[in-house]
Amino acid sequence: MGEYEVYCLECGSVQDEDALHCRYGDDALLRTRYAVEQLNPRHLPGIWRFIDWLPAQEPLLEARGGPVTYKSRGLADEFGLDELYISFNGYWPERDARLPTCSFKDLEAAPTIQRLIEQGTSEILVVASAGNTARAFAHIATVTGQPILLIVPSGVLSKLWTTRTSTSSVCVVAVDGDYYDAIALGQRIAGRDGFTSEGGARNVARRDGMGTVLLDAALIIREIPQHYFQAVGSGTGGIAAWEAAMRLNRDGRFGDHLPRLHLAQNLPHAPIYSLWHDQQHEGKFPEDIYDEVLYNRSPPYAIGGGVHDALEATKGRVYGVTNREARMAHRMFEEVEGIDILPAPAVAVAALIKAVKSGEISPDDTVLLNITGGGLERQREDYDLSPLGCDIEVGPTVDMGKLVDRIREKYEY
Ligand SMILES: *Cc1c(COP(=O)(O)O)cnc(C)c1O
Repeated sequence: MGEYEVYCLECGSVQDEDALHCRYGDDALLRTRYAVEQLNPRHLPGIWRFIDWLPAQEPLLEARGGPVTYKSRGLADEFGLDELYISFNGYWPERDARLPTCSFKDLEAAPTIQRLIEQGTSEILVVASAGNTARAFAHIATVTGQPILLIVPSGVLSKLWTTRTSTSSVCVVAVDGDYYDAIALGQRIAGRDGFTSEGGARNVARRDGMGTVLLDAALIIREIPQHYFQAVGSGTGGIAAWEAAMRLNRDGRFGDHLPRLHLAQNLPHAPIYSLWHDQQHEGKFPEDIYDEVLYNRSPPYAIGGGVHDALEATKGRVYGVTNREARMAHRMFEEVEGIDILPAPAVAVAALIKAVKSGEISPDDTVLLNITGGGLERQREDYDLSPLGCDIEVGPTVDMGKLVDRIREKYEY
């Protein structure tokens, strides 16, 4: 299962399986190349159906969730689209959607942790996050016992909840600052002995985990969709969809086309939108953004194999969506599809509305709308969600030695 090699997109050389950067110093992303050329889903739960195209040898059976693709009626009728498919990534047991923390970050966290377990590392994984990523990694760490260090801005602590009772493998450090202060501190800690960084978009396990959205959809639609809509912050999901489509091209049974990427950001805080449209963007962290996960000040845009390449290869588009448009789309989706969604995917729904209105897509085109997170309200009906809490709070000046000692102590119990 999952026989693969990791290679550099710039120089083509094969790298160590766990590498995040080219050993010859190239800046491009690394990518996986799988031995198995055709997509034959296994009798395994969730994403593990696609284990041949995941960088793991064995499935992590404690993580049974996966993307769920279904053909839309409600939204499809609103827009007059015959072939609108929804990839629902969240909690909606009536449709068999059971991602434990209600976003597609669960698709990334599971293979990332499984790979670490298989590599037998004793290092503590450092994850700096503005919310959903931290929640997904915290969950998987509690079910596997893999030690994990979450660095978050103190303002997002309320987003960190869990359905689990024991969280002893998780240490939460709250930074009195924004996402960038959290990332900066995370980098300093990850550089210390005994800690390792998860790597974000550079981590092939994260990208290939997200790529299962397109694989699942291709099996349901029986071809690669012509259009792929997603709200983006880093754009990693867009890169992953493009990469998965190229694998399906090689398979040969799902068409030889690529899905046009329709990536959506929230105006006015839209770095990828600005880069694609050659505009300046403001560098400060927005207060009034529709969803914080949609703001990443330095997305993997210009690097080889990054967002720009993905948009160019797929003849993609980037949409700017205002809060007002997002709110409208949010209400409409929940009403006609019958499930609550997170704020970010409402921005993707708004982009779809724009594309339909401008004639960008035709009524009989196959369209995949990635609902990147949802069912949180639905989950509250079934589970008690308890706050993860905070183990250590740090201010603007940090004594690194002391902090690292305190973190290590936390895992000794
Ligand atoms: C992280 C996240 C996004 C953005 O994903 P990227 O592809 O990494 O930019 C969108 N929606 C939700 C719910 C997310 O958690």
